[in-house]
Amino acid sequence: MEGRELNRPWWERVLDYVYSPYCPGCGRPGIYGLCEICRENVAPLRIPLTDYCTVYAGGEYSGPLKKAVLCCKKAEQTYLSYALANFIAKALPEHLKGSQRVFCVPMPANKKRRLERGFHLPELLARRLCRHFDSWIYAPQMLRLKRDLPPQKALTRHERFMNVRGAYEPGEAEGAYIVVVDDVMTTGATLFEAAQTLFKAGALRVDGIVIACA
Ligand SMILES: [Zn+2]
Repeated sequence: MEGRELNRPWWERVLDYVYSPYCPGCGRPGIYGLCEICRENVAPLRIPLTDYCTVYAGGEYSGPLKKAVLCCKKAEQTYLSYALANFIAKALPEHLKGSQRVFCVPMPANKKRRLERGFHLPELLARRLCRHFDSWIYAPQMLRLKRDLPPQKALTRHERFMNVRGAYEPGEAEGAYIVVVDDVMTTGATLFEAAQTLFKAGALRVDGIVIACA
């Protein structure tokens, strides 16, 4: 099954008249998401985390891809999430694009942080990927945060792994094929913990999908 291009809702087209779109990588006007030239400078990555979890990234967290993520998160240009979802969908391996049922889970975020920002990029991406692939099911209930996570930013690699230990609660994962969607992977601590939680709950396989990998 080939993924179809996502159609943006009518109200976002109306917004085009207010915010002129441009390539977040180089600033070329009239383009949604990364332009062809910027896309050529980004190479998809496959990072094996465990034997049941591989992380698929659109590319390295630098250059045009980093600019696109920052535009999406900081400048709240959430329309870019359509373009980014299309972009990472193309980088996925064939077995994920097949007809088998895939539960697509956004990486959970702290409630407070989510409310402050008003949107959660992994959620937008996960929803959009599910519209891209017919056999994917949006399943945020599959993974919940048991407690608020202190910010990971200032922590060392080891501290990041400790910080997220036991933080997630799995849903009905028995026998499921799951992908966990996040925006940027740094050490892989959160994705590792999420994958391990779901695998222990009986998931057959848990892969990660991120826009970029730092
Ligand atoms: Zn560009």
